[in-house]
Amino acid sequence: MSYSSREAGRYYGIDAWGNGYFGINDKGHLTVHPLRDARGVDVYGLLPHLTKRKLRCPVLLRFPQILKSRLEELFGAFNSAIREFHYPGAYRGVFPIKVNQNADVVAALVKAGRKRGFGLEAGSKAELAVALTHRLDDKAIVVCNGYKDADYVRLALRATQLGRKVILIVEKPHEVELIARVAKQLKVKPWLGARIRLHSRSSGKWTESSGSGSKFGLTTQELLDAVSRFDEHGLLPGFCLVHFHVGSQITEIRSIKAAVKEGARVYAKLRATGCPVEYLDVGGGLGVDYDGSKTSYEASMNYSVREYANDVVYGVQEICEAEDVPPPTLVSESGRALTAYHALLISEVGGQNRDPDRDLVDLPADAHDSLRELYEIRDEMTRKNHREFFHDAQARYDELHAQFDLGYLSLRDRALAERLMAGVRRQALEYAKDERFMPDEFQRLERRLISKYIANFSVFQSLPDHWALDQLFPVLPIHRLDERPTVQATLCDVTCDSFGEIDRFVDISDRRTSLALHELEPGKPYYFAITLLGAYQDVLGDYHNLFGRVDEAHVQLDKNGKARIVKAVRGDEAHEVLELFGYDPDAMIERVQEQIEERVAAGKLGAKAAERVRKEYERSLDGYTYLDFG
Ligand SMILES: *Cc1c(COP(=O)(O)O)cnc(C)c1O
Repeated sequence: MSYSSREAGRYYGIDAWGNGYFGINDKGHLTVHPLRDARGVDVYGLLPHLTKRKLRCPVLLRFPQILKSRLEELFGAFNSAIREFHYPGAYRGVFPIKVNQNADVVAALVKAGRKRGFGLEAGSKAELAVALTHRLDDKAIVVCNGYKDADYVRLALRATQLGRKVILIVEKPHEVELIARVAKQLKVKPWLGARIRLHSRSSGKWTESSGSGSKFGLTTQELLDAVSRFDEHGLLPGFCLVHFHVGSQITEIRSIKAAVKEGARVYAKLRATGCPVEYLDVGGGLGVDYDGSKTSYEASMNYSVREYANDVVYGVQEICEAEDVPPPTLVSESGRALTAYHALLISEVGGQNRDPDRDLVDLPADAHDSLRELYEIRDEMTRKNHREFFHDAQARYDELHAQFDLGYLSLRDRALAERLMAGVRRQALEYAKDERFMPDEFQRLERRLISKYIANFSVFQSLPDHWALDQLFPVLPIHRLDERPTVQATLCDVTCDSFGEIDRFVDISDRRTSLALHELEPGKPYYFAITLLGAYQDVLGDYHNLFGRVDEAHVQLDKNGKARIVKAVRGDEAHEVLELFGYDPDAMIERVQEQIEERVAAGKLGAKAAERVRKEYERSLDGYTYLDFG
């Protein structure tokens, strides 16, 4: 039966979640379309070029052109809304650095946004230090969020002396006094903002940052107090921004509308009482449709970027008109929506754990008698009796194991029992699947019989949110997409942790607990991609089992539509990861050398073998932390 790339596209949901950046070519390979047009990068075709650049699996591919495209879409959406509603103000985004602190990612976004007055958002001193290295447009702002100490404030004020519009956001009441004190010491007039706590709660998984229980933000009384303290310290002229953030990956447009209206009202009231606020910063939250279902499910969102921009612009406009105040310059801190699409991880499957071989035809003549019964159950199972026979087989099988425990069964007979039972399970499940209603026990059995593909990557390093937050990322093979996938499988990583497994997959109408993949072909590698990893993932990874940062390639289409690897970055070698955790690789080699010398002195190891042991040990410290399935 033939299978078309179109069917594969539908099954893996590429058209749903791909957002124009992904496709399948006529070779059945996954393609990436950084410019969202017909020109695509054949991801499988890229592999030999990666090898030439000495990059190994797992390898993270970054597409800087996708970052630019996302930024253009965001600005395009706001600018269209501003034109459509005749909004008299402007939109200026800032990039929240914490979403992806990678130097190249920040640089690519800054470059793409320079002419548009795009700025940066910092949540810590180190992130502010990053922001200050970038030359931004004169109109761009740098927003300083997060808890602050005197050093953080001092750095921000020094940057103000460089002529930068660095705005210190007051998140906690005591920060007002801190800022006032440092500003007086340095004799610098600070730019100030206030983060407010909204009453509206957001939808979705990341809702902790919203509502009155949130960790950040001023209550209404605290806001009023802050304003009068600003005034007393002579800082009121610098109070230029009102900020709120209701959480990330907001799934429902309704929550956004409500938050924008509430925030705009606070802005308008402040403005009406004489505060010179000119920016309204609506924070992050703009979602990414990871499963492509366009719903308010946590992996999705029920609105588009365009609708988001429309609702922000329209909502603010409406309230400013009602309150008769000048509308603010609009700022959003959209991180996820800008970065998620630009990065994907490629890796390979090294093997699978298999059921015991089920094609047992005859029992050996000397097999234990008690095996005979299981054998007969297997052979006499029919569609009609499958449930009863399955239960009988289970009982026999338990008895066989009890006999083994008492020493009555040989290892060979135990193996025969396992093989017979595997056959019973498969056959019973086949029959059960044809029933109109599949009983619970068979549903559980079906889940147990899903294959596990062992793949060369670490969930903890490359997609930590899958493990920590149950987040879904689209996964699919990068080749053989013109072949029907016949094996239901999950993807186990190479860590020794049972959580190191991708066992939840995107689906338009549900979530899947296994994914149809292709039968592995002996001697031929099988490659897959985990996509939409650009937000919060590649920078968050941890070093479970000492698997380190992965190799990276930055891929770009040139003028002729040809894919170019514009940068290759090698991931961690074992010694680098070890140093991170307090080991000294030289001392480690010395320790091993001492043991080698003792063995040599004792006459138990020859000089040549001793040399080989030492070399092997040194080589292991210089190697990639992942496996070599080749
Ligand atoms: C994390 C964070 C963001 C980014 O949110 P996204 O949903 O990724 O756009 C923006 N602002 C603040 C204050 C944040 O903490």
